[in-house]
Amino acid sequence: MNEIVINLHMHTTYSDGSGTHADIVQAALQAGLDAVITTDHNVLVNGPAGYYQDGDRKVLLIVGEEVHDQTANPQKNHLLVIGAGREMAELAEDTQHLVDSVNKTGGMAFIAHPVDPAAPAFGEPDISWEKWEVENYTGIELWNAMSEFKSLMKNWMRAIYFGFNSKLVAHGPFIETIQKWDQLLESGKRVVAVGGSDAHAFRVSIGPIRKTLFPYEFHFRAVNTHIFTKQPLSGDFNQDHDMILDALGNGHCFIGYDLPAPTRGFRFNAQGKDSTVGMGDEIEINEGVTLQIHIPQRAECRLLKDGKVIKTWKKREICTYIATEPGVYRVEVYLRYLGVKRGWIFSNPIYVRD
Ligand SMILES: [Zn+2]
Ligand SMILES: [Zn+2]
Repeated sequence: MNEIVINLHMHTTYSDGSGTHADIVQAALQAGLDAVITTDHNVLVNGPAGYYQDGDRKVLLIVGEEVHDQTANPQKNHLLVIGAGREMAELAEDTQHLVDSVNKTGGMAFIAHPVDPAAPAFGEPDISWEKWEVENYTGIELWNAMSEFKSLMKNWMRAIYFGFNSKLVAHGPFIETIQKWDQLLESGKRVVAVGGSDAHAFRVSIGPIRKTLFPYEFHFRAVNTHIFTKQPLSGDFNQDHDMILDALGNGHCFIGYDLPAPTRGFRFNAQGKDSTVGMGDEIEINEGVTLQIHIPQRAECRLLKDGKVIKTWKKREICTYIATEPGVYRVEVYLRYLGVKRGWIFSNPIYVRD
């Protein structure tokens, strides 16, 4: 198993981000990421995808896009499209057709910021996902770092306070988003959860002060998606691109908030009679399945079955649990950081089937 750290969902000067693809590559190299996925609004940017190297550091740049119906008001229902290999924005009007078309190309669709509350003090509308009747998307962006900031922008004072103290913003995915995900999982669907930064590197000026709020490098050290691949990265763009997207599509990944402490090393496996599987996999219950959790440092660990906490461990690194019932099992880990208990790790589920 190889753990690969990626950051996905971000904007460049091709849409409303302030940096270029080169700026993003530089920030990713600085932050030590393995790969980044850019997703400009309604444009698939041709050209920049590839491997970039600086000394002995390397980063893979994958280009996707964030598609929504630009004629809608407000402009809700944003969809992250990754790996389609062609422009999809012209299909935005019919969301189900868009998702089906993405699937036909072999690409993937993820619901972006499923819950994204309005910030009336700044004229920012609610741009949550509403088309829950749409089916066959790969997953949802369970944790979107910028939606969290938006939810804190109650007035100018608070916006400035959190904008200038960006480390205080992240607490975890919204409860409503987690509940929605659990409902989807309970209905029998497989839905991959990813963490996105939605990085824009906003440039603001307040009087004489000029500042970039939430620079790319800040995001790349914060909410990341950690992926497991069978082979290590080879250095060949096409091979590694396909391997990363395959792991992502199968949910072989977890969301890690790497700012309080690195989440690298987190594991969640299930050992059955004949096999051991990981996040995103299915396993038969038979006489029972042993769930094993490894946490990179002592923290509060919650095991959930079908959306309900069935066991909590405090200050533990290794946790085991024998599951005797089929269900959708997943893990949440919490850590105290800057005086507050915060979400640290959110696993993808292991599907224990009858
Ligand atoms: Zn969006
Ligand atoms: Zn976005």
